[in-house]
Amino acid sequence: MSTTDVAIVGTGPNGLAAGVVLARAGLRVELHEAADSIGGGLRTASLFDSGVVHDLCSAVHPMAAASPFLRAFDLPARGVELLRPEIAYAHPLDGGRAALAHRSLARTCEHLGADGPAWRRLMGPLLERSEEVVDLVLSGPRTLPRTSAAALLLASRAALHGSGLGAALFRGEEAPALLTGVAAHAVGKLPSLASAGVAMLLGHLAHGTGWPLPRGGSGRIAEALAEDITAHGGVFHTGHHVKDLAELRGARVVLLDTSPKGLLALAGGRLPRAYARGLERFRYGPGAAKVDFLVSEPIPWADPAVGRAGTVHLGGTHAEMVRQETANARGVRTGKPFVLVVDPAVADPGRALPGKRPVWAYAHVPNGDPIDPYDLVRARIERYAPGFGDTVIAHRSVAAAAYETYNPNYVGGDIGSGAMTLYQSIARPLPRLDPYRTPLPGVFLCSASTPPGPGVHGMSGYLAALSALRHCFGICEVPDLAPDSAPLAFQRPG
Ligand SMILES: Cc1cc2nc3c(=O)[nH]c(=O)nc-3n(C[C@H](O)[C@H](O)[C@H](O)COP(=O)(O)OP(=O)(O)OC[C@H]3O[C@@H](n4cnc5c(N)ncnc54)[C@H](O)[C@@H]3O)c2cc1C
Repeated sequence: MSTTDVAIVGTGPNGLAAGVVLARAGLRVELHEAADSIGGGLRTASLFDSGVVHDLCSAVHPMAAASPFLRAFDLPARGVELLRPEIAYAHPLDGGRAALAHRSLARTCEHLGADGPAWRRLMGPLLERSEEVVDLVLSGPRTLPRTSAAALLLASRAALHGSGLGAALFRGEEAPALLTGVAAHAVGKLPSLASAGVAMLLGHLAHGTGWPLPRGGSGRIAEALAEDITAHGGVFHTGHHVKDLAELRGARVVLLDTSPKGLLALAGGRLPRAYARGLERFRYGPGAAKVDFLVSEPIPWADPAVGRAGTVHLGGTHAEMVRQETANARGVRTGKPFVLVVDPAVADPGRALPGKRPVWAYAHVPNGDPIDPYDLVRARIERYAPGFGDTVIAHRSVAAAAYETYNPNYVGGDIGSGAMTLYQSIARPLPRLDPYRTPLPGVFLCSASTPPGPGVHGMSGYLAALSALRHCFGICEVPDLAPDSAPLAFQRPG
């Protein structure tokens, strides 16, 4: 058994972020990944033998563009180009209409007509304080806000829209549908305080740092993180599904990029009973069921402007989404689920080849749903893009139940690694002062099941790594993350 300072189990964005911080602190870091390739939710691969690559999980990166960790890591300086489509997201409605969130707030408001001023009042103040808003939401539960202004802006908006009263501020169907489509990213009951918080964060980012796609696919972010770890002496072991913490006895400290279910399995009865019971009670959210399409041409949206959007939300009106998402959260399958669609070649034309382009789409379905989502997802797209079915050359479906086999963190297909209720977005996985530390000495949890929760931002890994540095190695200094900065020189005892 090799001896090392730190073993990290799992190489999703959080495992990799932890690896970057710890390797840059001068520690010997080894990363263990169950799959044959690193990246977790950040994998891009060639499907259908087509020469065209698909993002197997995440595709669009508002969180990565805004994340304090990734801003300091500086993706663009490492050759990861974040491409921002002119329209961040679109929301088609029946009758060939569509609501559009342009990067420009002014254009969005203009397009929303009578509801433009209400959209500006909602998003404008958040945009003015965007960095503070992002820091507040993504910087962990123990970080005090720099000022109370961002907290007040967020809280007042979340209370209004999370209680359902906010929809009355709009007159038409477009603006409430546009906002609710973003709230649906929380994948749960609508309206709710947690989903309204998500809508405020992601909604205002569309007009700020944007909803970008990395040129060449999401895997480029994982590659950049992994290159930095390797450059600082880190070592990767792929194809190693760690089944028991005992396998990592040679490491002083262990960070787990796993769900609470994964932590329970790895600890195998070593956890104090109360903590283990708390983890058993951790709730997982509804599932995602995905279809990767290979199509012959751009999606024939009824409103051609939708074809300029990086992300498209298919859920119908505000009222329809409230019904669908709430039923789904209760485990009731609906015939018209909320579907997210990304045609990455809109932002990154290099992703398409003549007569071949990738389309990424997933539906919200009940947790553990075993149904092949192909017919459901194709029909949802067809409703707003008649003729889409005729452009499909090939497809690959992943049912919600199958996602857990692909990645054990997606329990029952819950791609958020834990339901995004208000309680679980704060006390994640359990209410503790330092949610990353487990009661087992030297064992930390660093996945999306810890604050700030799901998404590609690396902040859970970053914050867990800082906690491990402080508590286990006595290092309070934060390693510089910029590409050419010098690592810390850790003095190994003895
Ligand atoms: C279909 C889909 C679409 C998504 N779209 C977006 C999007 O567009 N934008 C966005 O920001 N987010 C998106 N997400 C969410 C995002 O991918 C996740 O929130 C994020 O990847 C979580 O990062 P993580 O590091 O916590 O865990 P993960 O990325 O889930 O990685 C965990 C890794 O740990 C490994 N692992 C687990 N247990 C073990 C073990 N015992 N031994 C060894 N290895 C283990 C797994 O194999 C996996 O590689 C999407 C997710 C999915 C599935």
